Amino acid sequence: MSERRDVIVVGAGMAGLRCAVELRVRGLEPLVLEAADAVGGRVRTDEIDGFLIDRGFQVLLTAYPEARAAFDYAELDLRRFVPGALCRRGDRFTIVADPFRRPLAALVGLLAPAGRPGDIARVLRLRREALQGTLPELFARPETTTAERLNELGFSPAVQQTFLRPFLAGIFLEHELETSSRMLDFVFRMFATGATAVPARGMGALSDQLAARLPAGAIRLGARVAAVKPGAVVLASGERLEARAVVVATTGLLPEVEPRAWRSVTCFSFDAPVAPVHKPILVLDGTRGGPVTNLHVASALAGGVAPPGRALVSASVIGPSGTATEADVRRQLAGWYGAVVTDWRLVQALHIPHALPVVQPHLRAPRLDSGIFACGDHLQGPTLNAALATGRRAATAVVGALAR
Ligand SMILES: Cc1cc2nc3c(=O)[nH]c(=O)nc-3n(C[C@H](O)[C@H](O)[C@H](O)COP(=O)(O)OP(=O)(O)OC[C@H]3O[C@@H](n4cnc5c(N)ncnc54)[C@H](O)[C@@H]3O)c2cc1C
Repeated sequence: MSERRDVIVVGAGMAGLRCAVELRVRGLEPLVLEAADAVGGRVRTDEIDGFLIDRGFQVLLTAYPEARAAFDYAELDLRRFVPGALCRRGDRFTIVADPFRRPLAALVGLLAPAGRPGDIARVLRLRREALQGTLPELFARPETTTAERLNELGFSPAVQQTFLRPFLAGIFLEHELETSSRMLDFVFRMFATGATAVPARGMGALSDQLAARLPAGAIRLGARVAAVKPGAVVLASGERLEARAVVVATTGLLPEVEPRAWRSVTCFSFDAPVAPVHKPILVLDGTRGGPVTNLHVASALAGGVAPPGRALVSASVIGPSGTATEADVRRQLAGWYGAVVTDWRLVQALHIPHALPVVQPHLRAPRLDSGIFACGDHLQGPTLNAALATGRRAATAVVGALAR
């Protein structure tokens, strides 16, 4: 007869780790079961040929309230992006300075690619509305799509195409901007009130920091769960484990909380002898010609992610596998940077089919009718903030249930 634990948490992504850390703080002894060979889920950093490469381009918005509560930012040694973006349009780049925190300073860039003076007023209005009220109030606002909201606000086609659309497509991983307008307001608020950052050793440092708060033996790697019931899980190996409560911190096990669909992306990582951009700034395809929507030089942000004398260039292509070949990507980037692109060596082309879940941004209760607890970004919205929030809430619900 196996020992009965306090709590089993299935999945060591952001949500599962946050849940386990909160359970420990409240005096319980969780066991985390993780199918993969390391913690982090979608937030991992791999070492390949001396480069530290994140599993897809992602960033920490330092204003995320849940991240501020969960992480020790100083220990992460955060490297901050220059606000705004370099937008490719025609045969040149235009800089859009910082439309979120200093909309007036962004004036020059916003107008340069044929934007209209009214666009500045629109950014100011979007900013004012995004900053109004509490976050729960923001997520209860009337909802439309991001595309419709940009049109309702009256942004000129030039500003939408050059900056807003590629910028937001890179965040939501979809070009049509069908994502809820609540998410637009939420990310705008986060950009307006904090920095865009990545830890010096890559995003995986976030997962490692949470995992380090759990005692040895609290996480079992390579432990794939095949089935869950209230109070028990069965591993793919056939082993059965019992606990007073089970928290499922992943998709694929509970049909009642499966996302409608997933957004996909492919990240092309190149080893370049010379960086095409020396600043830590986002570069956007302002033509919608594609296939690359955004690019950045990761080693300009954090030198330690590339071997000395090399640059790590990361380019993202939104969409299913096969949307673009390496040759397609090189062709586009040669148009931007010229023949030097032929000197770049592809280190990795990583396709991530399940990058962001398609869900309405709302709060699902952490305790399901089945008596099982659930957390993960698929319960609230596709961000680190949501994953962390759901993990914390699941821990609170478990503590409450076990105290009864
Ligand atoms: C390319 C990309 C870019 C992104 N960009 C951003 C960004 O810029 N900002 C932002 O806020 N968010 C971003 N995100 C989203 C963010 O990474 C996620 O919201 C968050 O990591 C989700 O965490 P999670 O714990 O809910 O899920 P996951 O990270 O998916 O964790 C689930 C865990 O469960 C494990 N697991 C699955 N099945 C089983 C099983 N049967 N048994 C045991 N273990 C199992 C998995 O291996 C995994 O470790 C991005 C994501 C991707 C992929």
